[in-house]
Amino acid sequence: MDATLVQDVVAEVMRKLQSKVDFKSPVPRVGEDAPANEPMRDNSSASGSNVDGRYGIFNNVDDAVRAASESQQKLLKLSLDERDQIVKLIKSIARQNAHRWGEIEFKETKIGRLDHKIEKLQILELVPGVEYLKTYANSGSNGVCLEEFAPFGVIGVITPVTHSVPTLSANAINMIASGNSIVANPHPSGKDCAVLAVREYNQQIANRFGIEHLITILANPSLETADAIFNHRGISLLVVTGGPAVAKAALRSPKRAIVAGPGNPPVVVDETACLKNAAESIIKGASYDNNLLCIGEKQVFVVESVYDKLVSALQTAGAVQLTRPQIERLTQQAFKPGQDHKPHVNKDFVGKDARLLVEAAGASAPPSCQLTFGETDFDHPFVQEEQMMPFIPLVRVRDVNEAMDKAIESEHGYRHTAIIHSRNLETITRFGRRAATTLFVVNGASPSGLGLGGQGYLSYSIATPTGEGITTPLTFTRYRRVMITGSLRMI
Ligand code: NAD
Repeated sequence: MDATLVQDVVAEVMRKLQSKVDFKSPVPRVGEDAPANEPMRDNSSASGSNVDGRYGIFNNVDDAVRAASESQQKLLKLSLDERDQIVKLIKSIARQNAHRWGEIEFKETKIGRLDHKIEKLQILELVPGVEYLKTYANSGSNGVCLEEFAPFGVIGVITPVTHSVPTLSANAINMIASGNSIVANPHPSGKDCAVLAVREYNQQIANRFGIEHLITILANPSLETADAIFNHRGISLLVVTGGPAVAKAALRSPKRAIVAGPGNPPVVVDETACLKNAAESIIKGASYDNNLLCIGEKQVFVVESVYDKLVSALQTAGAVQLTRPQIERLTQQAFKPGQDHKPHVNKDFVGKDARLLVEAAGASAPPSCQLTFGETDFDHPFVQEEQMMPFIPLVRVRDVNEAMDKAIESEHGYRHTAIIHSRNLETITRFGRRAATTLFVVNGASPSGLGLGGQGYLSYSIATPTGEGITTPLTFTRYRRVMITGSLRMI
């Protein structure tokens, strides 16, 4: 980390300290002001007493890197079949513990939905493993050329509070499949559940394969431990999943960083869309884990001619509509002015149930309510901020061109995710090309873009500013060429 960045971080810590009085919950605030600083200073947590240097749990970055490095050397000595077995073991441990770990993560982080915390662990089966490592061969007059996907070594990993165990587990599956080991700095508000999972993974891997520290974790993560990881000579690659502050910090680090950064996914609904499907998809995606997913629908741009029909379809599908005054009442509580005097998401509302949002707005909703919505202007904080709550603002637009323009503007150039409901192929193509997002979902709910109800594999780290996309084992490999000149050609 360079001197300017250290100064930025110190200034950020001081600013958070000053604004601490605004917030009661330990859940961090999301967005540019997302601190992690506040809980990150806490070095006296319960997990501290469990740190014994066994099974990947460490207090010190040097110790973790050393252990991870030794374990990675042992991993390289195993066959690819054995590596495959380790990956499958991690998936099966996650599946077997999904209910217990889901409850523990839910209790610790206090955000999202228990059913989805559990599901996010069960679906780790969809994360690709060793089968992705295919060697390419080119045989010709001059010999044989092999392109192999080799490991980096020890990878420094930063994980978010929104999916603490799922992100760490999916990263571990991908990274171990490609022959790497890990030093993880979890989000302080989701560290205990991550430590628990790491201990369990390593214990079972050690029992069966004799390697104890393939996944190491800092039990008391802080900005200092993150900084030490960013700058450690023993770490060859950084993989950072989180909001704007950490994405920026990683991009400024001297190491190569794969950055899975923030999003603010817009939805476009045009006059040709199947509105029933659009409404059901918006509810499914935006209510998933109470809208904690970075790919989740955050704001909808709907053309005027079908606006009322979309509202009816949302209501029929169970979403609760708020009036403008009710939305304003909710907004007063769900956003707080930051030092820059702009509204920022109030962490107390992040990942909370839709019913609580409706009640905060002064209305009531049945227990089955998963999503609430209402009409806002384009400049509204619910449109502009990555709110991570199951309230969806609908912005009425003249036509699909205006919908696209505003959708793209609201995405703020993150190039993360965009969604469209339309039957017009020309419109779909135009929006896809213009939005240029990493994930582009057509006529479905956002989770289908990660294999849930759609085609394709799963990852919880979608590398956006650095361009690697939805990560796979190949993302964490170095391409190496072996050129055998003048021999071995059999054709
Ligand atoms: P966050 O940015 O507050 O924290 C993410 C991680 O970064 C944590 O481990 C935190 O401790 C650390 N961190 C924060 N600031 C740091 C700094 N200056 N230096 C070093 N480390 C720092 O985010 P969050 O609230 O945990 O997660 C939500 C955010 O993550 C959202 O913006 C969401 O879009 C994004 N996210 C992206 C993806 C993706 O795949 N692209 C996946 C999940 C979440």
